[in-house]
Amino acid sequence: MEKRKCLECGDAFDGRKDKKFCCDQCRTAFANKQNTDQNKFMRNINNILRKNRRILAELNPTGKATVTKTDLLDEGFKFSYFTNEYKTKTGKVYRFCYEHGYLQLENNLFALVFRKEYVE
Ligand SMILES: [Zn+2]
Repeated sequence: MEKRKCLECGDAFDGRKDKKFCCDQCRTAFANKQNTDQNKFMRNINNILRKNRRILAELNPTGKATVTKTDLLDEGFKFSYFTNEYKTKTGKVYRFCYEHGYLQLENNLFALVFRKEYVE
Protein backbone atom coordinates (compact mmCIF):
# COMPACT_ATOMS: atom_id res chain seq x y z
CA MET A 1 0.00 0.00 0.00
CA GLU A 2 1.17 3.49 -0.79
CA LYS A 3 -0.29 6.92 -1.11
CA ARG A 4 -1.94 7.46 -4.48
CA LYS A 5 -3.46 10.57 -5.95
CA CYS A 6 -6.91 10.33 -7.52
CA LEU A 7 -6.86 11.26 -11.21
CA GLU A 8 -10.31 12.79 -10.95
CA CYS A 9 -10.47 14.77 -7.70
CA GLY A 10 -6.78 14.90 -6.79
CA ASP A 11 -7.34 13.53 -3.29
CA ALA A 12 -4.71 11.26 -1.82
CA PHE A 13 -5.82 7.72 -1.03
CA ASP A 14 -4.35 4.40 0.01
CA GLY A 15 -4.30 1.80 -2.69
CA ARG A 16 -2.43 -0.57 -4.91
CA LYS A 17 -0.06 0.78 -7.51
CA ASP A 18 -2.53 0.28 -10.36
CA LYS A 19 -5.38 2.05 -8.60
CA LYS A 20 -6.05 5.45 -10.13
CA PHE A 21 -9.17 6.68 -8.41
CA CYS A 22 -10.23 7.16 -4.83
CA CYS A 23 -13.74 5.85 -5.40
CA ASP A 24 -16.17 4.49 -7.99
CA GLN A 25 -17.79 7.88 -8.52
CA CYS A 26 -14.43 9.42 -9.49
CA ARG A 27 -13.65 6.55 -11.85
CA THR A 28 -17.04 6.94 -13.54
CA ALA A 29 -16.78 10.72 -13.73
CA PHE A 30 -13.34 10.45 -15.33
CA ALA A 31 -14.52 7.89 -17.91
CA ASN A 32 -17.56 9.99 -18.79
CA LYS A 33 -15.40 13.06 -19.42
CA GLN A 34 -13.11 11.08 -21.70
CA ASN A 35 -16.08 9.78 -23.66
CA THR A 36 -17.41 13.29 -24.04
CA ASP A 37 -14.10 14.48 -25.45
CA GLN A 38 -13.96 11.60 -27.89
CA ASN A 39 -17.57 12.15 -28.90
CA LYS A 40 -16.84 15.81 -29.46
CA PHE A 41 -13.91 14.93 -31.72
CA MET A 42 -16.06 12.58 -33.77
CA ARG A 43 -18.90 15.05 -33.88
CA ASN A 44 -16.64 17.78 -35.26
CA ILE A 45 -15.41 15.51 -38.04
CA ASN A 46 -18.90 14.28 -38.81
CA ASN A 47 -20.05 17.89 -39.05
CA ILE A 48 -17.29 18.70 -41.55
CA LEU A 49 -18.18 15.65 -43.65
CA ARG A 50 -21.86 16.51 -43.56
CA LYS A 51 -21.11 20.08 -44.57
CA ASN A 52 -18.89 18.92 -47.43
CA ARG A 53 -21.65 16.62 -48.60
CA ARG A 54 -24.23 19.41 -48.44
CA ILE A 55 -21.97 21.72 -50.47
CA LEU A 56 -21.46 19.08 -53.15
CA ALA A 57 -25.19 18.35 -53.24
CA GLU A 58 -26.09 22.02 -53.58
CA LEU A 59 -23.59 22.59 -56.38
CA ASN A 60 -24.67 19.41 -58.11
CA PRO A 61 -28.48 19.26 -58.16
CA THR A 62 -28.74 17.18 -61.33
CA GLY A 63 -26.05 14.59 -60.58
CA LYS A 64 -23.44 16.01 -62.91
CA ALA A 65 -21.76 19.41 -62.77
CA THR A 66 -18.49 21.22 -63.23
CA VAL A 67 -17.41 23.80 -60.69
CA THR A 68 -14.27 25.74 -59.86
CA LYS A 69 -12.16 25.27 -56.78
CA THR A 70 -13.25 28.75 -55.69
CA ASP A 71 -16.90 27.68 -55.85
CA LEU A 72 -16.14 24.96 -53.35
CA LEU A 73 -13.85 27.00 -51.10
CA ASP A 74 -16.33 29.89 -50.99
CA GLU A 75 -18.90 27.53 -49.53
CA GLY A 76 -16.43 26.37 -46.92
CA PHE A 77 -15.52 23.04 -48.48
CA LYS A 78 -12.67 21.24 -46.70
CA PHE A 79 -10.65 19.17 -49.15
CA SER A 80 -8.85 17.14 -46.49
CA TYR A 81 -12.08 15.51 -45.32
CA PHE A 82 -13.83 12.83 -47.35
CA THR A 83 -15.36 9.44 -46.70
CA ASN A 84 -13.77 7.36 -49.44
CA GLU A 85 -11.75 7.35 -52.62
CA TYR A 86 -12.50 5.64 -55.86
CA LYS A 87 -9.72 5.04 -58.35
CA THR A 88 -10.63 4.24 -61.93
CA LYS A 89 -8.65 1.86 -64.14
CA THR A 90 -7.13 4.86 -65.86
CA GLY A 91 -5.84 6.21 -62.54
CA LYS A 92 -8.36 8.98 -61.93
CA VAL A 93 -9.14 9.43 -58.27
CA TYR A 94 -12.64 10.39 -57.24
CA ARG A 95 -13.14 11.49 -53.68
CA PHE A 96 -16.49 11.10 -52.02
CA CYS A 97 -18.33 12.60 -49.11
CA TYR A 98 -20.91 9.87 -48.77
CA GLU A 99 -22.72 9.59 -52.12
CA HIS A 100 -21.46 12.91 -53.52
CA GLY A 101 -18.05 12.98 -55.08
CA TYR A 102 -15.66 15.03 -57.13
CA LEU A 103 -12.79 14.60 -59.50
CA GLN A 104 -10.13 17.24 -59.96
CA LEU A 105 -9.77 18.32 -63.58
CA GLU A 106 -7.33 20.74 -65.10
CA ASN A 107 -7.32 24.49 -64.39
CA ASN A 108 -8.77 24.19 -60.89
CA LEU A 109 -11.98 22.72 -62.20
CA PHE A 110 -13.82 19.91 -60.52
CA ALA A 111 -16.28 17.44 -61.98
CA LEU A 112 -19.01 16.64 -59.46
CA VAL A 113 -20.59 13.24 -59.50
CA PHE A 114 -23.26 11.37 -57.65
CA ARG A 115 -23.19 7.74 -56.72
CA LYS A 116 -26.31 5.86 -55.77
CA GLU A 117 -25.02 2.48 -54.77
CA TYR A 118 -22.64 1.79 -51.94
CA VAL A 119 -19.22 0.53 -53.05
CA GLU A 120 -16.71 -1.11 -50.74
ZN1 LIG B 1 -11.36 10.98 -6.33
